[in-house]
Order: sequence, then structure tokens, then C-alpha cells
Amino acid sequence: MAIKITDDCINCGACEPECPNTAIYEAAFDWKYSDGTSLAGSTVLPNGNKVDADLEQKPVSDEFYFIVTDKCTECKGFHDEPQCAAVCPVDCCVPDDDNVESEEVLLGKQKFMHPEWKQELLVFQMLVNLLYLIA
Ligand code: SF4
Ligand code: SF4
Repeated sequence: MAIKITDDCINCGACEPECPNTAIYEAAFDWKYSDGTSLAGSTVLPNGNKVDADLEQKPVSDEFYFIVTDKCTECKGFHDEPQCAAVCPVDCCVPDDDNVESEEVLLGKQKFMHPEWKQELLVFQMLVNLLYLIA
């Protein structure tokens, strides 16, 4: 299942940089599906919803840091445990009972947002740039 942030959040910001999917945002900030993912333009999500990945979306919370459910994979595919929950000083990153997903679905979301060929292409481009700088 996805993780959610409860109203015990003290807005410390420790969780935001830890999220491998850029699924965590500061209160009242707009967010995009394309932030920190390979998604771009008109996109059909694994759950069937059609979105514009580059379009700014309204904040989920105006008071506390929030998690975008569609982007949260419980850190599957990257880490053994939810990184936001691991660093939160007040333990307010908790399982979202309203958004229960199997490990298979969570891994599918991760691969959908971060296709391996795009990751490999990115590494290749970085290596080319590095060689260009050294030469
Ligand atoms: S569980 Fe992982 S993917 Fe989900 S919001 Fe927390 S850090 Fe991000
Ligand atoms: S680490 Fe916890 S308290 Fe700090 S912003 Fe994130 S959810 Fe809120």
C-alpha cells in the first residue's frame, strides 16, 4: 500500500529528499507526475487514469507535507523499507489503508515511472559527457 502523512507532521522536511519517486511535497506546493520520474506529456497511469505528466497539480495538503499516492511505491524497487518512515522524527509516515496495493503492483508502478532503458540511457549520456570533459 502507499504511505501517507498524518496531521502529526511537524513540517521538518526530512522526508522529502529521501523519496526516490519524488512523491513527497511541501504543504501548499503544486506538484507534477514528471517531477523526478521519466513520465512526460499525456500519460495513462497503471491504474487507468489519464493525466498530463507535465501539468502542475493542486497540493494534497495546505498544512502538512504530503505524499502523492500515485507516485508512492513504498520505496519498492529502490529500498527495503519506506525511506520517509525511516527518517520521520515523529513517525507520521504510515500505511494508507485507503490505498492498499500488492508488492507486484507497487513494483509495476516503480518500473512504469523509471523504465530501465531510460535509466541506462541517462547513465550512458553522463559517461559521454564525462569523457567529453576529460578529453
Ligand atoms: S514510501 Fe518511499 S516512495 Fe513512498 S513516499 Fe515514502 S519515500 Fe516516497
Ligand atoms: S519527516 Fe515526518 S515530520 Fe518531517 S516533514 Fe516528513 S512527514 Fe512531516
